[in-house]
Amino acid sequence: MHILLSNDDGYLAEGLNALANALRGHAEISVVAPDRNRSAASNSLTLEMPLRAYAADNGFIKVDGTPTDCVHLAITGLLKKEPDMVFAGINHGANLGDDVLYSGTVAAASEGRFLGLPAVAISLAGSNPSHFETAAQVAVTLLQQLINHPLPQDTILNVNVPDVDLKDLKGYQATRLGQRHKSEPVIKTADPRGRIIYWVGPPGAEQDAGPGTDFYAVSAGFVSVTPLQLDLTRYDRLNDLKAWLPKEHDV
Ligand code: MN
Repeated sequence: MHILLSNDDGYLAEGLNALANALRGHAEISVVAPDRNRSAASNSLTLEMPLRAYAADNGFIKVDGTPTDCVHLAITGLLKKEPDMVFAGINHGANLGDDVLYSGTVAAASEGRFLGLPAVAISLAGSNPSHFETAAQVAVTLLQQLINHPLPQDTILNVNVPDVDLKDLKGYQATRLGQRHKSEPVIKTADPRGRIIYWVGPPGAEQDAGPGTDFYAVSAGFVSVTPLQLDLTRYDRLNDLKAWLPKEHDV
């Protein structure tokens, strides 16, 4: 088994290093990661500039692009041997509910969705998390389970781990994504030359975070595992849409 690792926090991130050390004992690994923090890069691909890949001192390959660039390059020609699956993370901070739309960690996993085994995005909850060994062990456990319980292609697992010692984990819960309220207001301030600048504000508070959601599982001390599909089509609205779209003779 050959596993590709990537992340969005950059090739020097502690979470990526912990994940690499844990999976190395269970599979051949290749690490291709951004050369700097590209959190919230979502699924962006760099099309208007070339990309450069360098062998880093820590044995990883760093790329001057987004997480999606890294995985895209890796599985379309950068690596001599195609990987069987992608693990992305361990992200420094949770990716819960609406966060998955912005997350570079989830994007890196989703770029690996065409591979033989489902891709896994793994995040350690908390604003300044420290228990990366816990999340790394969770990654190993899920890898072993996935080998025997394969999920369909076009599926990824979004995993969030509470920031606690391994012995303090309550267990695992299969969850759905919760939802947040609208984001906090943008922060308006000035640069040193008096020009107006804006900082994107923090994400909104939890709104739909009851039992069954990823928010609830993590806050209760469980590893949250959400299967994500990448087909965004809202099938139950198709018929209604067909009914009101202009007919050919109305164009
Ligand atoms: Mn990140």
